[in-house]
Amino acid sequence: MKVKHADKQSNADADEVRRQADEARYRTLFEHAPVGILISDAQSYCLDANASICRMLGYTRAELIGLHASDILVPTEIQHIAPALNEIKTRFDHHREWQFRRKDGSAFSADVSVTIMPDGNLLGMVSDITERKQAEQSLQTSEREQRQLSQLLEIERFRLVTAQRVAKIGSWETDIATMAAIWSEETYRIHETDPVSFHPTHQGFLELVHPEDRAAVDEAFRQSLTQRAACVIDHRLLMPGGRIKFVEERWQMFFDEGGQPTRAIGTCQDITARKETEARIAYLVHVYAMLSGINALIVRVHDRDELFREACRIAVEDGGFRMAMLCMVDQNTKKIVPVATAGKDEELLASITERLSSSKDASNTMVALAIREKQAVVSNDSVNDPRVLFGKKYAESGVRSLAILPLIISGEAVGTLALYSSEVEFFHEEELKLLTELASDIAFAVDHIEKQERLNYLAYYDVLTGLANRNLFLERVAQYMRSAVSGGHKLALGLIDLERFKNFNDTLGRPTGDALLKQVAEWLTHKMGDINLLARVDADHFAIVLPEVKSDGNLARLVENLLAAFLGHTFRLNDAVLRIGVKAGIALFPDDGADADTLFKNAEAALKKAKSGGDRYLFYTQKMTEAVAAKLTLENQLREALDNEEFILHYQPKVNLVSGKVTGAEALIRWNDPRSGLVSPGQFIPILEETGLIYEVGRWALRKAIEDYLRWRSAGMPALRIAVNVSLLQLRNPGFVAEIERKIGIDPHAAEGLELEITESMIMEDIKHNIASLQAIRAMGITIAIDDFGTGFSSLGYLSKLPVDTLKVDRSFVIGMAEGSEGLALVSTIISLAHALKLKVVAEGVETEEQSRLLRVLSCDEMQGFLFSKPVPAEIFETQFLARQ
Ligand code: C2E
Ligand code: CA
Ligand code: CA
Repeated sequence: MKVKHADKQSNADADEVRRQADEARYRTLFEHAPVGILISDAQSYCLDANASICRMLGYTRAELIGLHASDILVPTEIQHIAPALNEIKTRFDHHREWQFRRKDGSAFSADVSVTIMPDGNLLGMVSDITERKQAEQSLQTSEREQRQLSQLLEIERFRLVTAQRVAKIGSWETDIATMAAIWSEETYRIHETDPVSFHPTHQGFLELVHPEDRAAVDEAFRQSLTQRAACVIDHRLLMPGGRIKFVEERWQMFFDEGGQPTRAIGTCQDITARKETEARIAYLVHVYAMLSGINALIVRVHDRDELFREACRIAVEDGGFRMAMLCMVDQNTKKIVPVATAGKDEELLASITERLSSSKDASNTMVALAIREKQAVVSNDSVNDPRVLFGKKYAESGVRSLAILPLIISGEAVGTLALYSSEVEFFHEEELKLLTELASDIAFAVDHIEKQERLNYLAYYDVLTGLANRNLFLERVAQYMRSAVSGGHKLALGLIDLERFKNFNDTLGRPTGDALLKQVAEWLTHKMGDINLLARVDADHFAIVLPEVKSDGNLARLVENLLAAFLGHTFRLNDAVLRIGVKAGIALFPDDGADADTLFKNAEAALKKAKSGGDRYLFYTQKMTEAVAAKLTLENQLREALDNEEFILHYQPKVNLVSGKVTGAEALIRWNDPRSGLVSPGQFIPILEETGLIYEVGRWALRKAIEDYLRWRSAGMPALRIAVNVSLLQLRNPGFVAEIERKIGIDPHAAEGLELEITESMIMEDIKHNIASLQAIRAMGITIAIDDFGTGFSSLGYLSKLPVDTLKVDRSFVIGMAEGSEGLALVSTIISLAHALKLKVVAEGVETEEQSRLLRVLSCDEMQGFLFSKPVPAEIFETQFLARQ
């Protein structure tokens, strides 16, 4: 938390620094502008003023701020302020000559253009036109004065030429009758015509005017003839080579006594520089808007894609660019990939993307160049620039110049911002300086977001191993808990401690210790098969969650196996091979804690206890530890039992209910535990099944039963079929049929002596597969009995489909028989149906004469039970039931 807080603070500081840098940059631009700039609020109260305007008005900046427009205009102008503000509101700009009043009370004329800025404030640009005014005034005198002027021609001409040259204002006079004109030297210079060869006329002048402006200029001239009004008009001249010049024309008509126009006298001024400055300032205002837009974005946006998208959008919408595109260098492939565009032309973008992804061409692109050189690459005439690969295509999309700006983070170019302008010669030093700033802002943001992501990563992951940290782990555990509740199962949380890890760290050094932790994390990930189940929660503590625990025995085995495998695994460190011991503490949900935190703490408590005592692992609950320990002991003992041949088979005879003769026997397994004597299968078969040991034991039982059968048979005793019980796990095993085949392969008579007992619920598990297996087994000559019939889910109707020979009626039905007519009817139905299907019926667990009598009445074929004999050891079965017959 502390880290996060500190970072927030430093982010805020960085944002503040950037905001200040923006301010400074904007202020420089503002201060050095040659025109006067005033910023006012919407009511025209001054908010800011630059040096030029302060000079013009004779106020200091501090004095100007807060003054109203009416304070700096001559009184007669004040009435025009409100209409002008209205015009700005509706047209967004305003253009007019205004009479200003200086601090000292003197007046001067200035051209003013006002625009609304994105924040709603007004930006006024003020150009002092005093000089031009003076030149005009000297011209716009009456005709009489003009005549006097011509009398003083030589002196005046000299004065005029000098004045005009200084002001760069030319004058002209057109005779309305002939439309022939007289131009001053400056007028020739402005129009770039030769005073000797060019004979100016109104028409001749019009031909120099840009074709798009020509009609408007002529129209204005004709209107001032009819309306007798003076005129001011801006227009363009089309110069040789397509060069454009902006000119401002002002003229006035003169009339004779009869009211007929005689001549027009006017001035013209080359205002190209002013126009350019205005355009430039208007543009820089755009860029400024774009800069502050993007800086606002950096504070707001925490998603890289959104940043890219928005930056491009702002460049197009606020910056006025035709198109913008952001590319990033893929850190893995090193390829340059476009990540965002705005104002895009789909087709063009596709071409660019294709070019960038082609390994052959990618390095020739300007984008690649900008990344290589870590410098802006500019083409101010993209159509004719051989470096621009898509010059023509760009032109079709209205692009005339472009700039590619590298995004540089700690000295590395990680991407580019490409800006496309619809103007030729667009990117000059001043713009580039601002745009480079812009690119560095975006790079800063990318870096910032990456650091943020890294921080988020740090909040949830362990950097060393890449595993979840405690926070994320607990979140996940809480989630798993919810599904454990809905799924009705348990969940286990285990903590593992590496023994003597501190020793490794101290003796082999920290880097080696780190390497070991990484290997342990990899090993655990591999072993668990799912990284989401793991976490590193402390220096040498790992946590594991088992989201679904089915039985306690299973869990104990899992823990045992994991710990044993861990100890068995050799870790390699600096050529040294070592084994590492672990201790574990385990807590169960819901038994040991209702929430992730509690569960974790209890697992910790269990681990602590295990570490201080001799146990390799401990459960939080003592009872659980004991139960698990007992089960595990049993499991190990059963393993040993198999190796030490402690299992034995008892045989329980089956007798014919009519003849009383022994017809066969069921082999029932017993464990002859050297410590406690005979153990019945109910106590160990489930564990054999859980551990998979049942395969081995089942195989042993089959072999043993067949051996006994063959031995008795070869000894000349009656060949009675022996029924062997089959477990579900055996039946499921794809190799089961082959296994049986091998077992009976030892003798041609083996199959005749074997019956397999399979419960009906086992058959129903995968009925199709099992029917096929049973058919194959019967085909070998082995018979099949359905065990515990009536306890499973199968309906009697199913029986007809099953490839079986014998049906064993479960003991519960035999008991139920004596309890009422219903029970009796049920057994009767089972027997008659089985007979209809040609199945032999054996009644299980017959304990009384009464049961035996009833079964006989119901035509049951055979019975098995304590009444006739308990299951007995092979030797006793042999002497009692085989030798005697
Ligand atoms: P099961 O197949 O139903 O075996 C019959 C069980 O009934 C046997 O219990 C038997 O001792 C008992 N029993 C027989 N007659 C009477 C009687 O009159 N009254 C009472 N109360 N019980 C009687 P056991 O030997 O304890 O075997 C239990 C179960 O263990 C068996 O039930 C069988 O499912 C399983 N089992 C035994 N041996 C094997 C084996 O080799 N492999 C497999 N997979 N399972 C076996
Ligand atoms: Ca049985
Ligand atoms: Ca049975």
